[in-house]
Amino acid sequence: MMQESHIVDKIKKSYKYDIVFGTHTLHKFAQDLYKVLVNRKRIDDIVNIDGEIIEGLPIKRESKIKAQVTIMNGCNNFCSYCIVPYVRGRERSRASKDILKEIEGLAKEGYKEITLLGQNVNSYMVVENEKAKKEGTYVESEINTFAKLLIEINKIKGIEKIRFISPHPKDFTDDVIDAIANCEKVSKLVHLPLQSGSTAVLKQMNRKYTKQQYLDLVEKMKNRIPEVKFSTDIIVGFPGETEEDFEDTLDVVKKVDFEQIFMFIYSRRKGTPGDRMENQIPEEIKHKRFDRLKELYEKQMAINNKSYIGKVEKILVEGYSKNNENLLTGRTDSNKVVVFEGKKEEIGKVETIKIVSEHMWYLKGHK
Ligand code: SF4
Repeated sequence: MMQESHIVDKIKKSYKYDIVFGTHTLHKFAQDLYKVLVNRKRIDDIVNIDGEIIEGLPIKRESKIKAQVTIMNGCNNFCSYCIVPYVRGRERSRASKDILKEIEGLAKEGYKEITLLGQNVNSYMVVENEKAKKEGTYVESEINTFAKLLIEINKIKGIEKIRFISPHPKDFTDDVIDAIANCEKVSKLVHLPLQSGSTAVLKQMNRKYTKQQYLDLVEKMKNRIPEVKFSTDIIVGFPGETEEDFEDTLDVVKKVDFEQIFMFIYSRRKGTPGDRMENQIPEEIKHKRFDRLKELYEKQMAINNKSYIGKVEKILVEGYSKNNENLLTGRTDSNKVVVFEGKKEEIGKVETIKIVSEHMWYLKGHK
């Protein structure tokens, strides 16, 4: 938000402050704070540039078992509902040696699960590679694609599970599909943001794929990775979305049978093309469509949950259940929460659990 000038203006007018800084100057916070304390002067440190990759900043991690690792920042896609490209700048990837060093360090500290983060993880190094090719400095053997990065992380001893969010369907290349298939530690739950099932709405959203291309990609992955499952993001009520368009979204949901759907009602973001579109959908219609999607999702989820009963799953034990401190909890490869009886010593280990019952938001199991 601090990279959006109208919000900065509002903050400055509304509050007393010492420092205002944005995401691109986060790494200078200690210096800025020092200057404020010494000079007793306010500091505005917001730069509207693409930002640099800053290595070595300390990271406070909540869990001792699961860690998130940023592999790239920024986005070049300009989906018409999204503010990210305007505030986080253009895509830039961290060097693979720095990412691998960080993950090796995490493995040594006992971390077991890594989630690779980026606005568009599967275009990791694409910009840098294009530039290197133009300059004649491209080296084929380097770890310079998302697929190669997955393969290298898969080799790190101690790491048990690798997840990543979020890829873009248009950038899902065959080498990445092969890497998911071949790397045993890479989760077979692929988060594949749909946003809308209507080709017309996708065009308005500037997503650069059609309904059919999305379905073809899902089919291709199902053929290549038999155990693959999908989760997704869907926006309901984007400007211009007709009843027919919305039904296309329901159609894709029925066909793909997602494990998880993160559903959003479209809300306008100042500064985006979507906000300037005239054909905004009335709130009442958006909410009704949202409820219909939720109903379908919950029906599918109930059937899906039942299919887990009797299955044996490898579960990385994350700790005690929030709702029952006598039970341990972890997740299936497909990210379903599982609770079961166990001992403290099992936390951080991978246990084999048989699923015995299902509940809306979790499964129960035993060893
Ligand atoms: S939705 Fe994702 S891919 Fe699209 S502009 Fe925003 S960050 Fe980029």
